[in-house]
Amino acid sequence: MKFISTNGKTVEILKKYNLFPRKNFGQNFIIDPSVVIKIAKESCDKSTTTLEIGPGIGALSEQLCIYSKNLIAYEIDNNLIGILNENLASYDNFKIINQDFLKADLSFLKDVEIVVCANLPYYITTAILFKLFESDLKIKSINVMMQKEVGDRLMASENTENYSALSVIVQYLYDVKKMMKISKDVFLPKPSVESVVLTLKPRFKENINQELFFEFVKQSFGQRRKTIFNNLKKYLNEDKLNRLNLKYDLKKRAQEFSLAEFIKMFKEVCDE
Ligand code: SAM
Repeated sequence: MKFISTNGKTVEILKKYNLFPRKNFGQNFIIDPSVVIKIAKESCDKSTTTLEIGPGIGALSEQLCIYSKNLIAYEIDNNLIGILNENLASYDNFKIINQDFLKADLSFLKDVEIVVCANLPYYITTAILFKLFESDLKIKSINVMMQKEVGDRLMASENTENYSALSVIVQYLYDVKKMMKISKDVFLPKPSVESVVLTLKPRFKENINQELFFEFVKQSFGQRRKTIFNNLKKYLNEDKLNRLNLKYDLKKRAQEFSLAEFIKMFKEVCDE
């Protein structure tokens, strides 16, 4: 069987339907079966309901149909819907929804445990992730390919250049691990950036007001060059700031504080 994700089959499909990958939808199709097989195998199993964002012509979707119980995929590009249905006609566990994922109502999935697996459209990576984070879906894991630079920010530890409010917030919600690095050469067309696949697994949640905590973290990072004291001056009243100052070195910058320290500081002054 010739998988969709082979270079030959992808070129054949593009020619057959006179298709040109659309830059504005971030269309870079995977042309290496070993990549999509590994992602599918590591993300799901035969008991899994899998949610895919941006199936394209079905390279990863095909493997997700093979390795999971069923697949629900959102594709924004009308031109690809007929092609996907045809390419995946031999799988009866595949459902395609022709919609912008960012506008999708996911409430029909709320009672099902799901695994998210996708080669994301890079121009909306963080918007898609935050839609998932803020949803009330029962997410077992999120396994997604993204631009390496974004992956580096999500995985970054304190005292590194890429560490930001985004790193703290994502790592508060999920354990973030790298599944694999992806070379530019496995895409058609070849993108200008390197990629990475990350796995995010929900972590134990603290008993704190999450929304306020995220605001505290964002305010702490306000201006990267400023000390955390100066950033928090506008956010906390004098009494709270002084209390914090007695216990922590607020002359440091936000990027020098770990997730655990952010949680402790927040509990000290904001979560009351
Ligand atoms: N999964 C395919 C693969 O790996 O070969 C294609 C991945 S391609 C990087 C991203 C896909 O996301 C494209 O098919 C694109 O049309 C689709 N897409 C872009 N924006 C979208 C949106 N807002 N909602 C759903 N799909 C979207």
